[in-house]
Amino acid sequence: MSKRDYYDVLGVGKNAPKEEIKKAYRKLARKYHPDVNKDTDAPDKFKEAKEAYEVLSSEQKRAQYDQFGHAGPQSQGFGGGFGGEDFGGFGDIFDMFFGGGGGRRDPNAPKQGNDLQYTMVLEFEEAIFGKETDIFIPKEETCDTCSGSGAKPGTKPETCKHCQGTGQMNIEQNTPFGRVVNKRVCHHCSGTGKEIKEKCTTCSGKGTLKKRKKIHINIPAGIDDGQQIRVAGQGEPGANGGPAGDLYVVVQVKSHEFYQREGDHIYCDMPVTFTQAALGDEIEIPTVHGKVKLKVPAGTQTGKTFRLRGKGAPNVRGYGQGDQHVKIRVITPTSLTTKQKELLREFNDLSGNEAADEQEESFFSKVKRAFKGE
Ligand SMILES: [Zn+2]
Ligand SMILES: [Zn+2]
Repeated sequence: MSKRDYYDVLGVGKNAPKEEIKKAYRKLARKYHPDVNKDTDAPDKFKEAKEAYEVLSSEQKRAQYDQFGHAGPQSQGFGGGFGGEDFGGFGDIFDMFFGGGGGRRDPNAPKQGNDLQYTMVLEFEEAIFGKETDIFIPKEETCDTCSGSGAKPGTKPETCKHCQGTGQMNIEQNTPFGRVVNKRVCHHCSGTGKEIKEKCTTCSGKGTLKKRKKIHINIPAGIDDGQQIRVAGQGEPGANGGPAGDLYVVVQVKSHEFYQREGDHIYCDMPVTFTQAALGDEIEIPTVHGKVKLKVPAGTQTGKTFRLRGKGAPNVRGYGQGDQHVKIRVITPTSLTTKQKELLREFNDLSGNEAADEQEESFFSKVKRAFKGE
């Protein structure tokens, strides 16, 4: 049987643009697909159209065909590949007509492995200074015995005969509305498109094993609650030679009883006594970097904030260092001795009810005006 010219098969001219070739093939595929057309010569017509389309829709193959015709160096491969019942699923045409849209996928195409997520809880200080640690995560690992093929060493998985490696089967049903073709996952190969005659004994043919894998994690200094670290390639292994997924380590930072953190800055409240605030003092402030001395000037009000430059968290991207903001809280004494009470009364008599301090003046005036309802 001599082969017909591919352009003749599709009924297009030698200079037909890609779009026209596609259209012509769709028309023929719809007409001759063995799922729709039961004529005895339909399968051959369909195969012929498919072969013509596969060559003419590829720029490289088309150029070769134009130059060499059917005798071209590649064309033998095309002819040989169409024996048996390989029509492609009905889904092939649907995908082509409707643009696929997540319908059928080639089960043998390389597939990236799933990403994994691991939550790591850090102490407040650990987040600020960073940490190197090992984590153990249960994950699917490629089986070493069979290198992931699932077949016993020395053997190879074969293409599933029941679905021709597509992983799907067409189930035809006659309904009152006509014949309906449904696609189902091939139950012989569970949709993998492969048949393993002799299974790898280590992984029972799965190609992967659940293992607890130790992964070294480097937590950068300055990481904050909710941020994540991507460890490339440490997710689940890919299938059919696809790349592994990634591991995401999501960081949760414990709250601290004294410090609060906002971005690179650390905030704290520092209690001082009534007399320290009034007379001034040098006090010690805890910071994550160690104790720091702070001069509290005489007459410091509660709520006054001091900044300790560079005593915050390092920026996780390396842009400098945050500060620590210290908010003064003047503590009113609660249990006073008789002597203390006496002295405070004396103090009050000396200063009167009016606040002598200029800064407080305006504040007390505001309070007074508020009482008067002005
Ligand atoms: Zn199958
Ligand atoms: Zn194995």
